[in-house]
Amino acid sequence: MLEHITASEVAGYGVGALLLCATISAPKIDSFISASQRSSLGMCKRCGDLRLIACSNCKGSGSLRQDGVFSLITSDEVKSKTSSLSCNKCGARGHFPCPECSKLRRPKGF
Ligand SMILES: [Zn+2]
Ligand SMILES: [Zn+2]
Repeated sequence: MLEHITASEVAGYGVGALLLCATISAPKIDSFISASQRSSLGMCKRCGDLRLIACSNCKGSGSLRQDGVFSLITSDEVKSKTSSLSCNKCGARGHFPCPECSKLRRPKGF
């Protein structure tokens, strides 16, 4: 798709064209470029100024299926929650305050 674009046009398109191509072809590259673009825009690299990071433990749902964890715990709390467990990593919220944002700026958000 680049054959009809001259060198000067490529220079003109610049990062925009790169971003467009990357967005279409490769989500991983897109996220990489987005991160660098975010930082160049003064946005947070980790969260894009959302100030939240999804919990990797519960995939952002705030609760966990019992599976392996259940067998390790024998408390009344577990008995009362037979279908799922609150994620103790994120406190069942499904996300954390972004550590980058909370340490760098805008502490009033959290
Ligand atoms: Zn969690
Ligand atoms: Zn952040």
